[in-house]
Order: sequence, then C-alpha cells, then structure tokens
Amino acid sequence: MTVLIIILSVALIIVAYKYIKLSKSTKPIDKSMLPNGVDIDEKTLLPYKTNRVYGYGKEFNAFVTPNGKYFHRSRCNYVKSHKKILMHRYEALKKNYLPCPYCKPVSKVNAWYDDFIKKNNILD
Ligand SMILES: [Zn+2]
Repeated sequence: MTVLIIILSVALIIVAYKYIKLSKSTKPIDKSMLPNGVDIDEKTLLPYKTNRVYGYGKEFNAFVTPNGKYFHRSRCNYVKSHKKILMHRYEALKKNYLPCPYCKPVSKVNAWYDDFIKKNNILD
C-alpha cells in the first residue's frame, strides 16, 4: 500500500511538472496585424524591418546621445558631433526621450503595433 502511494505521488509530481512546463512555454504570437516587411523580435517584442541594413531598420532606429534628452534620425547634424547610441524608437519614446526639433524623427508608436500589443496581451 505504501509503495502504491509513493508511486502515485511520483506520478503526480511528474504530471504536475510537465503541466507547469507546458503552461510556461511561450505561446505563438499573432503577427497578422504587422505590415509587410516587418517582424517582431521575440525576446524584446519590438518590431524590426526584415530587410534592415543596420539596427532595427531606418524606420525604427533612433539615436540618442549620452546626456541628451532628444532622440534623432541617424543623419541629424546634432548627433554627428556627439557619441551616438542606437535605440529602438519605441524604446526611446518609452524612456521619455523627446523627438529632436531639428531632424524631427517620427514620434508616434505605429497603430498596428498597439494592435499587436493588445491582441497578444503583452503588458508594457
Ligand atoms: Zn536631431
């Protein structure tokens, strides 16, 4: 009887462990609302251009400077004379960087990305 209880307990632990593992495994993300040529980095959940040459692709690249409060386009004259740090545009916005008043980078999160976040229940 005791042996049977031990076997059942072990079996239960194995089943519970497998269940926890399964429920933790990442469910596939719904990318149907993404525009053509855009994919999502599954670790950061940030979009990038599939044909990018540098960083996340021109559309999503933002550049900040070590002590600056603005984010810039890559060709901005202001960043040319400073050490520039690549950042995702969405990350820059989230960190409250302001769009540079000279090079005027896009300063909104694309609507399809909001849809993507909502449909996949991704919390900010
Ligand atoms: Zn600028």
